[in-house]
Amino acid sequence: MKVKVVTRILEANDRIAVENRKLFNNAGVYVINLMSAPGAGKTSIIEVTVKNIIKNLRIGVVEGDIAGTDDAQRVEGLGIPVVQINTGGACHLDANMINEAITDLPLKDLDLLIIENVGNLVCPAEFKVGEDMKVMILSITEGDDKPLKYPLMFQESSALILNKIDLLPYTDADIEKIKRNSLSLNPSLKIFEVSCKTGEGISEWTGWLQSLVK
Ligand code: MG
Ligand code: ZN
Repeated sequence: MKVKVVTRILEANDRIAVENRKLFNNAGVYVINLMSAPGAGKTSIIEVTVKNIIKNLRIGVVEGDIAGTDDAQRVEGLGIPVVQINTGGACHLDANMINEAITDLPLKDLDLLIIENVGNLVCPAEFKVGEDMKVMILSITEGDDKPLKYPLMFQESSALILNKIDLLPYTDADIEKIKRNSLSLNPSLKIFEVSCKTGEGISEWTGWLQSLVK
């Protein structure tokens, strides 16, 4: 019975996600749904991405957090349009929240919309919001056991950004094991090894992203 209820919630969500997708297509904006555990570096990746996109792409951001506006303020500092969603406890963004939030964005003036999901490796992967692709970040300090413990997010994502590689010498994390297990779950996963701190690997990520945005 419980499973049936969950299925209906997801079906209702998917219908709104399809509507969002139409709105995004009509506006000509490419949308990524950025997911990770808390503290992996979602907002930092957004900052370095906006700063490193060399082609003249107009970028907007939706910030999802349970509470607070810290991340939206950081992004606002980049001089781009941003909307903050406070979920008030919910541990993921759903299509309806996005449907409401985008009314406050100049969608037609954007080429790329980055949706920063709530920090959580579990249910954000289950809820479509109308995105073109899901991208996940795993910081290497989270440990090399995460792909096999949280397989759905690795399976749903088109790209995996391995962040904080500058900290590799200080951890026991086996980055080859992370890559091997991630690819065993999702053979087409694009993997980027980056450090927002040193800038290493960022241009590979932003170059690939730019190539996807018309
Ligand atoms: Mg953040
Ligand atoms: Zn959730």
